[in-house]
Amino acid sequence: MFKYSKFIYYLKKFRYFFIQKEPYEFYMSKRERPSLEISVKVGCGLMCTYCPQGDYIKSYKSNYPDEFKVLTKEVFLDCMKNISTNVLIKWTGFTEPLYSKDFEFFCEYLYNNGYEQSISTTLKGTKNSVDWFVNHAYMFNLITLHLPDEEGLMKCKVDEEYISNFESLISNPGTPLDRVSFFLIGESFENNLERIISKYVEDRVVDKKMVIKAEVLNTRNSTVTLDSSGLDNIKFRSKVKKVKSENFYCAYRRLNQGVLLPNGEVSLCCQDYKLEYILGDLKTQNLDNLYKKIQDSDSERKHFTSGSFFPCSSCEHYRPLSNEYTGNFISAS
Ligand code: SF4
Repeated sequence: MFKYSKFIYYLKKFRYFFIQKEPYEFYMSKRERPSLEISVKVGCGLMCTYCPQGDYIKSYKSNYPDEFKVLTKEVFLDCMKNISTNVLIKWTGFTEPLYSKDFEFFCEYLYNNGYEQSISTTLKGTKNSVDWFVNHAYMFNLITLHLPDEEGLMKCKVDEEYISNFESLISNPGTPLDRVSFFLIGESFENNLERIISKYVEDRVVDKKMVIKAEVLNTRNSTVTLDSSGLDNIKFRSKVKKVKSENFYCAYRRLNQGVLLPNGEVSLCCQDYKLEYILGDLKTQNLDNLYKKIQDSDSERKHFTSGSFFPCSSCEHYRPLSNEYTGNFISAS
């Protein structure tokens, strides 16, 4: 589900001939609707083996030694002044969003001010934020539950409290189950969860197609490998070599989906755990302008289209235009 179909891809190409407002490579590198992921803090309690969390922590601390390590209400509100309501806010980024003690404040602000929001969560976090989320899932237009695996690749204790939160969320009449997916990285869900989810599917509480097992993992700009991921049966997309005569683009369409850091800076995208390219400070600059930064600069635009733009040059989604549809377009992520 949520796959970006070939039809939509070719429709987008077709539309370009009527729009032509920006260079084709940049138009194709963006989603139909801009969005912003939010990282609520530095350092995630889960430390999944397939996540380069250490890179994020190290880079943030070295780039911003004296700045906020947790997103505060003040920074959030300063940033919101520079985001229009057509931007989809995604609670995901580099860390688990429910670890923010102000999660309720942030989400209610967005809801009351006409923003749409989606979330990818492990259902772990501060007690208040988890409890609030379980009772307010209706505020989110898409919910991805990234759940613990049986091998313990996600460092998440599945105890009575966890199971109770999970079951309360699913049984809550306000939870939009048609918009909830159950996502696994690993061989199988943790045993108790596996049993409960199978029963939900059997009883048709949950549609089978909403239960998704990852087959392909992102390398996060070449920082995750088969060894470091701890996974045996997972694929990685291969990087495409630079071809002289061809222009490049982002097949993951991330040039209008940056990640907000706790200090208000916006990093290029969710693959940039090392924070190697910062678009700018959202406290003082408009998000639309940040998303045009690369194409508006002569030298960066040239680098990007020619295939030599760093850090994209470390990313498997950076491809020649002839590489067209890659099937990488999962819009729930
Ligand atoms: S790092 Fe990869 S996903 Fe991110 S913008 Fe560059 S090509 Fe796209």
